[in-house]
Amino acid sequence: MSDIFDYVIVGAGAAGCVLANKLTANLATSVLVIEAGPTDSNPLIHMPRGLGKLYTNTETTYFYDVQRTAGKPETEAWLRGRMLGGSTSLNGLMYQRGHQEDYDHWERDLGLAGWGWASFGRIFKAMEDHELGANAHRGAGGPVTVSVTKNHTLLMDKLIEAGGKLGLPQFQDANLPEQEGIGYINSTIRQGRRWSANKAFLESVRSRKNLTVVINTEVTKILVDGRRAVAVECKQGDKRITYRAGREIILAAGTMHSPKILQLSGIGPGVNLQSLGIPVIHDSPEVGANLREHLVFRVQYRLSGDYSQNKQHSGWRVMWHGFRYMLTHGGLMSDPPYDVTAFVRTRKNLTRPDAQIVIGNMSMSIAEEGFTVDVKLEDEPGASIIGYNMLPESRGSVMIKSADPDAKLQVIANYLSDPRDQATAIGIVRFMRALFEHPVVKPYVKAELLPGPSVETDDQILAAYDKVSGPGYHAVGTCRMGIDAASVVDEKLRVRGVTNLRVADISIFPTLVSGNTQAPAMAAAWRAAEIIEGG
Ligand SMILES: Cc1cc2nc3c(=O)[nH]c(=O)nc-3n(C[C@H](O)[C@H](O)[C@H](O)COP(=O)(O)OP(=O)(O)OC[C@H]3O[C@@H](n4cnc5c(N)ncnc54)[C@H](O)[C@@H]3O)c2cc1C
Repeated sequence: MSDIFDYVIVGAGAAGCVLANKLTANLATSVLVIEAGPTDSNPLIHMPRGLGKLYTNTETTYFYDVQRTAGKPETEAWLRGRMLGGSTSLNGLMYQRGHQEDYDHWERDLGLAGWGWASFGRIFKAMEDHELGANAHRGAGGPVTVSVTKNHTLLMDKLIEAGGKLGLPQFQDANLPEQEGIGYINSTIRQGRRWSANKAFLESVRSRKNLTVVINTEVTKILVDGRRAVAVECKQGDKRITYRAGREIILAAGTMHSPKILQLSGIGPGVNLQSLGIPVIHDSPEVGANLREHLVFRVQYRLSGDYSQNKQHSGWRVMWHGFRYMLTHGGLMSDPPYDVTAFVRTRKNLTRPDAQIVIGNMSMSIAEEGFTVDVKLEDEPGASIIGYNMLPESRGSVMIKSADPDAKLQVIANYLSDPRDQATAIGIVRFMRALFEHPVVKPYVKAELLPGPSVETDDQILAAYDKVSGPGYHAVGTCRMGIDAASVVDEKLRVRGVTNLRVADISIFPTLVSGNTQAPAMAAAWRAAEIIEGG
């Protein structure tokens, strides 16, 4: 294998798979994709409801200890995918594009030419193979399969009905332009199987002669000659390897690791890097800053009868569902983990939804065990509803603590540190309760278990966030794109301070988008490929 390629892409997640697909379309261009993790051969990856067991697998998952608030000891666990497909090989499969205003804000207000809805709307349409078919705003025939949940249950039907009575339009397509509404989830599931970015974008082009994919290989550093990024240094087991880039190195290692690689390479907050003994190539204080995450609050209920799927996920029943899935790729195990989603305005004077809720016909044993990545379902019938402020202003950070690439990162979430986030945080809890307490749903509910009825006032709700909230796994922003000199990358995704180096994953998002992030990650990488090719 030659060790020099036109493009070296770091990470084969949502963004990396799209970039590999697009940049190898020109057969004269050679592309190397370097992925830290293994293939996606574990069968649980492909069974949509197999994901719980993936969250304890250290081979295919990265784990992080995250400080919830700067200066306070409380921590929580975050995780990310570490395999072909990246986090799209273990995520919750929900397909949401965000609101068009999210992107128009970037273009119109932040000056990021070419990053508005005109680009994203076009790309989403081209990307999609939507089960509901093409229309003015969605696509069919593209690489990303989007399906609508078929297995409906009584409780979820009632919750959708209650949402309607609370003023939410009911949808089948969860990505309507105006966004507000409630309905069953749309997901990246194709014929009962997870349709990850690896499936959608990489596998189909693996036979291209100009594409090389190496797995189980972790990039530890970018080598810079003068100001030009020329190669990546990697660890493959005990071996050290260097791959050179004739044209460019493109980081697609995600929000946690793209800033980590820049920092290890001497591009980051100069004072911190110097204190770790790392020679500073470019003092860029915002590398690792501006981390924005969706803070998810959970309300959990005990149901008045057997209206939950808890029982279906234990004992002989779960074995039966697994067996059925192996034979048919159908049944319960082919459903997305959550059932229903809604986009709501927590205050009526808002012009568009500020919160997303997601409902599952299951309940976790977190009342006893707290939040862990190793969640178990309750034995008794329960349901849970989670909700989050889609556009948080609070910002945290990701920073290396050592020049050793194996050392743990310091990650600080800083949830709710910006007072502007608090009104939505309170409003979303009140909305979730209104849904479950609606007369249409009430007969099916016995009691609220979490946070519990004693939590009533605004202050009590905010305090309850310390106990019953956790990450939405959508963190962005640690390599912020901007037209200002302080931003990490410019609007063409070029890393400031060096040449021949870009970042093209969701770490470049200047703000969060209104919903889950896999579709925006893929669309942004598609846009990145257009820019790299001169578009
Ligand atoms: C548990 C969970 C649930 C989620 N649920 C949903 C959902 O339901 N719907 C939704 O839309 N989004 C969801 N997301 C978010 C979505 O999956 C991510 O936003 C998206 O995958 C981000 O894309 P990315 O390319 O930036 O990073 P990733 O997809 O995480 O890819 C990064 C890749 O880089 C590799 N890598 C990292 N460091 C190195 C290195 N040093 N060298 C080489 N390779 C490296 C990683 O192994 C990984 O493959 C979820 C995420 C998680 C973690």
